[in-house]
Amino acid sequence: MRCALFGDQIEAYEEVFKPSGQYEISKAPITAVDDQYKFNLEELPYQMTVGHQTIIQRLNPESGPIEPKYQPLSTIPRSPDPNGRYDVVGVVLFVEEAPRMIPNARGRDSPVREVSLTDTSQDHAMTISTWNDLTGKPCDAMNNWAEKFNVVGFTALKTRHTRGFTLNTTMSTRIIMNPKGARVDMLREWVKLYQHVLLDRQERILNVRYPSAEKKVVTIAELRSKKAANATPDEVAWIRVTIPEVDLQRVNAYIGCLGCGKWIHLALGTRFPCISCKKADTVAVHKYSVNTLP
Ligand SMILES: [Zn+2]
Repeated sequence: MRCALFGDQIEAYEEVFKPSGQYEISKAPITAVDDQYKFNLEELPYQMTVGHQTIIQRLNPESGPIEPKYQPLSTIPRSPDPNGRYDVVGVVLFVEEAPRMIPNARGRDSPVREVSLTDTSQDHAMTISTWNDLTGKPCDAMNNWAEKFNVVGFTALKTRHTRGFTLNTTMSTRIIMNPKGARVDMLREWVKLYQHVLLDRQERILNVRYPSAEKKVVTIAELRSKKAANATPDEVAWIRVTIPEVDLQRVNAYIGCLGCGKWIHLALGTRFPCISCKKADTVAVHKYSVNTLP
């Protein structure tokens, strides 16, 4: 039976289907097709259409569905690997209330919803951005995160290196609400024994998500010790400094690169690649500079 892909789907499914792979495909409508549209007469008189609801799962030729190979969050390579796919299981600490629309790699708006996941391998949580259909029912199922520490599995995630180190779902990702295995049992036991550790990590996430009016003042040394691996994306910190003899007649306000502060002639909020600091994805924000008196 033929299954034709159109437009965006061609690229999107390239990573899902591999020659000679075996798949279980569900929710793909099958319709009758006229003889005149067949490439050869051996083809069945049907065609399958892949849509938003379609679920494609790779099978092991002998034993059915491939079991997830859950790995600790700390063992996911921190260097970019466009082909790497990772299965993780962890405790859900936070799920964004509703999906947001943001531009995807192909420039179209897609729904995205962030989930924070943690495990015993590192002392902070990791952000997983769920995309498209996964932002609906699968995320809603984890919406009781405030009352319950659910242990949930995610398969076939890829890594993302803009705005810190995060994980993204792919076309092959499954969100498994009732995962099984030794690693899962260990995490469930951990949840029972170390509620205070999980509450503490959850609080850190909530402080970033819902910042209080009170400013968090840190030292420059504390800021320096922040690495992509131990910072929470979008975390805001304040430093208290004294600028001696500031020349208040010469305050320059302008729009510049979020990363390096380079002046840029773009509208506020525009995303762009910065030629000055070489960041592939940065954003135009308000910047200002002051001088000290000569
Ligand atoms: Zn820059």
